[in-house]
Amino acid sequence: MKELLEVFKKDEKNYYERLKSIYEKVESGDCAGCGLCCSESVGATYTESLNIISFIKKNNIMTRKLMDSIVDYYLDVYIKRNKCPFLDEDKKCLIYDVRPLNCRLYGHWVEKEYEANYERLLKENIEISKELEKSYDFKVPNDYLTFKIPYCKDFKGKIMKKPQRDALYDLTLKEDNTLILKNDINIEYEDMGIVEHILGYLLNKDIILNLKLKGKLNKKMRNRIKNIAWLRWSALRL
Ligand code: SF4
Ligand code: SF4
Repeated sequence: MKELLEVFKKDEKNYYERLKSIYEKVESGDCAGCGLCCSESVGATYTESLNIISFIKKNNIMTRKLMDSIVDYYLDVYIKRNKCPFLDEDKKCLIYDVRPLNCRLYGHWVEKEYEANYERLLKENIEISKELEKSYDFKVPNDYLTFKIPYCKDFKGKIMKKPQRDALYDLTLKEDNTLILKNDINIEYEDMGIVEHILGYLLNKDIILNLKLKGKLNKKMRNRIKNIAWLRWSALRL
């Protein structure tokens, strides 16, 4: 991630412009602004996440409170569902201008495809939970597993079928490939949320996963992790 951030910085303007041109292909609609679809941190590509990190840094959006929420979100994954840390108290998105494609497409889903996607994710999560139980004796709570953001019926806008949405996802992934291959960075693609991307840059995720799954995540340890994340973020120069 650190390497990616370095190479992104060299060509940042172009990546930003290209992402913008992909985002502009999603027609804006009429959103009720209920914030329900922001009930969890959504997935973002590497390029999108670097664009978001740059935006947060340059616009001084990060506060200690926000960093604490990001860390809490990350530490509580597999334990409880926290809302997306970027949703503020007025149900506004703090990174609205650079929010990833997933957020932009939310109201545009076909209901049947949305439900099928939920079933697919549920199956995947059940498999992950079985593996966690087998390898770490860690039991994922049932309400975490079955959590579901209901299909949005309040958004008024163009419905986009899977091939149309996939075509846009492909364009964002192409940006990742350019970033990774052009700069000869050897990295495996991982499906990650914005929170994981940010903390992947600041913290050692393997150590944290171990602490979490082995039940060693007490309040003192949680605060220590938050302090490290905050100090590293503060030292980050763009
Ligand atoms: S897209 Fe739907 S669920 Fe999300 S904020 Fe708008 S109205 Fe609410
Ligand atoms: S990034 Fe913004 S739009 Fe996306 S889930 Fe978070 S608060 Fe909602």
